[in-house]
Amino acid sequence: MEHLKHFRDTDFKVSDIQLFKNINKDDLIIVKNKLDSCPVVQAKSGDIILDSQSSGACLYVVLSGILAQASNTSRRQLENASTQYFAGECVGEISVLDEEASTATIAAMTDAELLLIDAPIMWHLIDESNGVARNLLQLLSFRIRAANAQLRNRQKVGEFYRQLSMVDGLTGLHNRSWLNTQLPGLIDNAHATQTELGIIMLDLDHFKKFNDNYGHVMGDEALQAAAKIISSGLRPSDFAARYGGEEMIIILPNTSRESALVVAERLCDRIRHVEIFKNDIKALPHITASLGLATLCSGQDGLAIIAAADAALYRAKERGRDQVAL
Ligand code: GH3
Ligand code: MG
Ligand code: MG
Repeated sequence: MEHLKHFRDTDFKVSDIQLFKNINKDDLIIVKNKLDSCPVVQAKSGDIILDSQSSGACLYVVLSGILAQASNTSRRQLENASTQYFAGECVGEISVLDEEASTATIAAMTDAELLLIDAPIMWHLIDESNGVARNLLQLLSFRIRAANAQLRNRQKVGEFYRQLSMVDGLTGLHNRSWLNTQLPGLIDNAHATQTELGIIMLDLDHFKKFNDNYGHVMGDEALQAAAKIISSGLRPSDFAARYGGEEMIIILPNTSRESALVVAERLCDRIRHVEIFKNDIKALPHITASLGLATLCSGQDGLAIIAAADAALYRAKERGRDQVAL
């Protein structure tokens, strides 16, 4: 950055600097005397003002132009930066106080004139003026609140994407990653509370033929319709996930074998009756599903109960499909 002049050579008023607002007249004179000999530098658009590599703690006051906080200094990033600093605002106050490098990257969004106040001068002003100290405390509180809000926002966005990554895009059911992370906990909980838990493996019948006859798009429609039937037929405490292809898994916590069988029979019946329309006019032949039910045995883990439900599903297929097997 190019050294331009001293603060005394500018017509910027000390009281227009946020940090020195509303301080008493005597303090204002002390501040002005100290600032007069401080350098003013010219930053070019894109110049980095502060980053983790910056050495020498220094507070920068924007006299003209705009600074922005950004993860990189491309024009687009700077223009979209959530935090921007305008004339009268400052950056680098935390580095001045703790003499550590900045954790944020601050760059010039436009050409800018910046007043440099080094750490010894800043400490002198804090020692000499209660008003400056108070303003600085207020600024720090504002920064902490802003940082906390940003953190909460990031956590929300992170949670949103985490949830999204657990959902199957076609059916809206949970996906396999969800199953892998959640099933062990549900099984552990059932063992710990000595409650029953049922698993149903559901596979659409002759679905390859359905695709071959009516096309993949209609196949997708049928899968979505089956998924809708499944999720609308469960209690809020039950879970359904797409296990893969046209195979779905249903988890019924706290459910007896008899009740789980009733649920499986009901789903089988509802899928048999679901209507799939082509172009909203012509209904396609009904789809059917085969379902295998297993209930949790003592000491059984997720893999074992899935294997048991899978074996039951195989029996349902063998016995002619469109039915439930145990
Ligand atoms: P079975 O009654 O023995 O289960 O016969 P099937 O034809 O359903 O079994 P198979 O495993 O041979 O075929 C499954 C078919 O499911 C193959 C594939 O075309 C179809 N499929 C899997 N995932 C999707 C999908 O996301 N969309 C569509 N449209 N079809 C899918
Ligand atoms: Mg199938
Ligand atoms: Mg299959």
